[in-house]
Amino acid sequence: MLILSGKELTADKLRQMLKEFEDNKTKTEVIRKALILTGIPKRLTKLRNKILKERIKVANPNIRVITRRKLLAQINSHRCELENLCSHPVIYQIQGYGGSRSEEFENAYPTRRYCLACGLFENAADFKCNIMVSNTGTVFSKLSSNDERIVLPEPFRQPRNYIDIWQPLEALLHPVELEIAKSLNLNTA
Ligand SMILES: [Zn+2]
Repeated sequence: MLILSGKELTADKLRQMLKEFEDNKTKTEVIRKALILTGIPKRLTKLRNKILKERIKVANPNIRVITRRKLLAQINSHRCELENLCSHPVIYQIQGYGGSRSEEFENAYPTRRYCLACGLFENAADFKCNIMVSNTGTVFSKLSSNDERIVLPEPFRQPRNYIDIWQPLEALLHPVELEIAKSLNLNTA
């Protein structure tokens, strides 16, 4: 038994304190995520919606070639604008693969990240897999982890399939929001 400032601290009491502390830490992390979601600027969503509309138009087989060309150029320029505007608030990470000896590690691929909002892709810069080293990578320059970002594991099993990010942002973020809501309710219950 430990006595601090005249108070007895049993192992049970300390364990309980630790649990409360950890619960608070989890809650802080969830609130941090919620804040990131609420901080996504309207103009980013607007620009995204513009691109979504242009993509629907361009997919129409009945449009004229010249119109299609114009639209494609517009989409490209809007995507560049979106990438520049985007702070990459929600990122999916696809775990890399170290490769197999039978394939001489040529089937290895780096850990990848992509932004759900603008679609920016990045391979880990420190990827190196061969007979001597196996590092699928953790270093990202544009899509690095920070307090303003949510980095989630890619929810799909197929490592070479990605979520089609060209759907409304609300739909893409819905599972993330559900997770947050669940965590907050669980902790406040
Ligand atoms: Zn982005």
